[in-house]
Amino acid sequence: MALIVQKYGGTSVKDLDRIRSVAQRIKNAHDEGHRVVVVVSARGGVTNRLIADAKALHPEPDDREMDVLLTIGEQETIALTTIALHAIGVPAVSRTGGQAGIFTDAVHTKARIVEIRGGDLREQLNGGKVVILAGFQGINANGHVTTLGRGGSDLSAIAIAAALKADLCQIFTDVDGVYTADPRIVPEARKIPEIKYEEMLELASLGSKVMQSRAVEFANKYGVVFEVRSSYNDNPGTIVKAQTTLEDVLVRGVACDKNQTKVVVSDIPDQPGAAAQIFRSLAEAQVNVDMIVQNVGRQGIANLTFTVPADDAYKAERAVSRCLDSLGAGKVSLTDRIAKVSIVGVGMQSHSGVASRMFTTLAEHGINIQMISTSEIKISVAISLDSADDAVRVLHRAFALDQ
Ligand code: ADP
Ligand code: ASP
Ligand code: MG
Repeated sequence: MALIVQKYGGTSVKDLDRIRSVAQRIKNAHDEGHRVVVVVSARGGVTNRLIADAKALHPEPDDREMDVLLTIGEQETIALTTIALHAIGVPAVSRTGGQAGIFTDAVHTKARIVEIRGGDLREQLNGGKVVILAGFQGINANGHVTTLGRGGSDLSAIAIAAALKADLCQIFTDVDGVYTADPRIVPEARKIPEIKYEEMLELASLGSKVMQSRAVEFANKYGVVFEVRSSYNDNPGTIVKAQTTLEDVLVRGVACDKNQTKVVVSDIPDQPGAAAQIFRSLAEAQVNVDMIVQNVGRQGIANLTFTVPADDAYKAERAVSRCLDSLGAGKVSLTDRIAKVSIVGVGMQSHSGVASRMFTTLAEHGINIQMISTSEIKISVAISLDSADDAVRVLHRAFALDQ
């Protein structure tokens, strides 16, 4: 008898038929005698709709109120899924993040989990009940609801699997696993049977939304092995773990993030400490800065360009503005949305020529590179949003990922 954590994402529970189908899958695991905890997301589209409603009322809605609002999405699904289980004779009970003792810090809309007390989860499981747990949410030390960032139900599932020392953690979604690129952009993308945390983490943080990057980070830290698989069929998925039996390849996959804004800070004094002050104020505003380019111009004046998640663009602009006021120089502007396209693979560490093949491929297809950033196992380029899908496809082919 194993302890299994299953997670079902938004499309897997989008309507009542899907909820019935998920309930049947849960029943199968329960009938096999396993203890089952199920983490569910909001029904597909609900979180986006709630965000749009809030933004229609205020361009920058308050983070705490957003959490109060967004947690309703998952609360609806836990109740409906539990009711669907009752309808087919499975004893089940729902729990919110707070009821399951998922304690977080106080950073609303992207809270970090600090402790999982579990509430009465173990008692319920021992009593033969399936527990349906709301993903994406927790509570802070004052008992106020918090959320874990977009895609955060993945994190809820991994974290509860770690806390309960689950034997199996299954992330059910609407594709058969992790592919060499988003199969909706590249139809010839291939499913990866096993992947290391390292590569999965890069793919996720570079925009492959099949897994939330913080969830992968957590899994890596606590050694939670998990499987990404489809809730629409019984095909084996992708196993994510520390070491795999697959050979290291140059490029494991191509990722794309279409949600980045370029911030340009111009006319700043070219003196020690200017960049430090700007990035300190961005960090204080909880903005994650990504690609950074600094050009030093004439007469001791420098320009700084960097990218931030589009949702944080105004916050970034305000933080930099405040800092420039105290520096007494410079101006900040937000430019167009850009796409970041990346290739990821641990094999890159020991091979040269990968960057040149990437840049040559893009050039041959007339795709202009605006910024570049690299690490040991990835190369990213910022390009125009219009060429993003093309870039993913041509790079996928250039590195023979379809073979
Ligand atoms: P869920 O609602 O189950 O959490 P998401 O929509 O968050 O599902 O993530 C699944 C989606 O991720 C897929 O439908 C697919 O379009 C997208 N995706 C992006 N990159 C990849 C990839 N490398 N492999 C598989 N899916 C990917
Ligand atoms: N409902 C949340 C979102 O859409 C969390 C999740 O689906 O994982 O981001
Ligand atoms: Mg998701």
